[in-house]
Amino acid sequence: MCPFRSSLPTVRTSAFIDISYKITKKVIGFMELERFFSEQVKAMRSSEIRDLLKITEGREVISLAGGLPDPSTFPREDIKKIAEDIMDKNWERALQYTATGGVEEFKKQLISLSSLRGISKIREENLFVTVGSQEALYMLANLLIDPGDQVAVEMPTYLAALNAMRLRKPNFLGVELTEEGANLDQLEERAKKTRGKLKLFYTIPTAQNPGGVTMGLEGRKRLLEIASDYDFLVVEDDAYGFLVFDGDAPPSLKALDTEGRVIYTSTFSKILAPGFRLGWVVAEPEVISKLEMMKQNVDLHTPSFTQYIAAEAIRRGVIQSNFPKVRAIYKRKRDVMLDSLEAHFPKSASWSRPKGGMFVFAKVSEKLDTGILLEEALRKGVAYVPGASFYHDFSGRNTMRLNFSFPPEEKLREGIRILGDLLKEKL
Ligand code: PMP
Repeated sequence: MCPFRSSLPTVRTSAFIDISYKITKKVIGFMELERFFSEQVKAMRSSEIRDLLKITEGREVISLAGGLPDPSTFPREDIKKIAEDIMDKNWERALQYTATGGVEEFKKQLISLSSLRGISKIREENLFVTVGSQEALYMLANLLIDPGDQVAVEMPTYLAALNAMRLRKPNFLGVELTEEGANLDQLEERAKKTRGKLKLFYTIPTAQNPGGVTMGLEGRKRLLEIASDYDFLVVEDDAYGFLVFDGDAPPSLKALDTEGRVIYTSTFSKILAPGFRLGWVVAEPEVISKLEMMKQNVDLHTPSFTQYIAAEAIRRGVIQSNFPKVRAIYKRKRDVMLDSLEAHFPKSASWSRPKGGMFVFAKVSEKLDTGILLEEALRKGVAYVPGASFYHDFSGRNTMRLNFSFPPEEKLREGIRILGDLLKEKL
């Protein structure tokens, strides 16, 4: 940890921290390095979530800001046993370099895991293993987007995907979220306006982050029809596909894709452990082979050891048999958050009622700016993510994302009560 940064008194933004850092550097005579950065790096934005997590380190703050899984969902004992078995029987391969696209045994197991999201008839050449699905999103942005390309995104959408795409300088077309997922009339209208130039639609159709909504089966079919009619690609982020706890999750878009138009990505972060840094892509071999070339320049391959462990965790049914427990824990916490919102938030506020995932998205009075309100909330001991960072155009200033997966139930109640009181005070 940088000694200059750790003693900074307030949170503010990374811009504030950077200015203080620069002044300190000047005083002690260190050189200015900014001018050496590439144009692309200059366009980088720091993630507000990461900044927030830094700020809350070592402080008594109830964080509804992050997106951490509940550690009690990690199948710790099973992982321990599997790791030990691998170290006894398969250590030479697990500790060795491996293929760029992923360990063969793992890919075989991914075929079976993906089938639980309705994805069938895929083979190893349709699969690609990544360092978390974040790497997949970053690589896909680089694989598909040229500056000025038309890219449709949900409003709001996952901010780290937005940031990865922003580096490619696309022209974003926003599609509002409804209770039923992306507004498809609007998507069609956007596609029509670009006269065949819409290149891709990045979507999180199941337990959307941060919106908390899930698109039904009919919507999914229509989305694919629109994509086909207007000939654009669909990047489906299914990070929460296994985490639907009210009823059954609809099949993934990839499961309904008859044209090879959908590039699917998912992750082990929510169903095994985020520390494994494992994600995967399902797509046509043309896409996979390009990803492979690209990854050779990035990190050669995803760590072999975690791939062997995850493969065994699927083969032994550890992940599959853990689903009911994980879903039950998050359903209970979702209920605690919704009950607390009902009890403490002002009547002028509204919020999503997610059937899965880890987040509730709340809208407060138009008079309030949740970005400005955050500092006061932190002083009162609660953190959230201001909603604007989930909008490509930084609108949604009166929205906020609230995480229910990580904090213990009593902290969820207390955090929402503090936030509710603050909102009422400000009205
Ligand atoms: N997509 C979505 C929608 C997410 O919420 C996340 C994590 N918060 C990711 C992708 C990336 O997760 P990971 O890199 O851990 O797989």
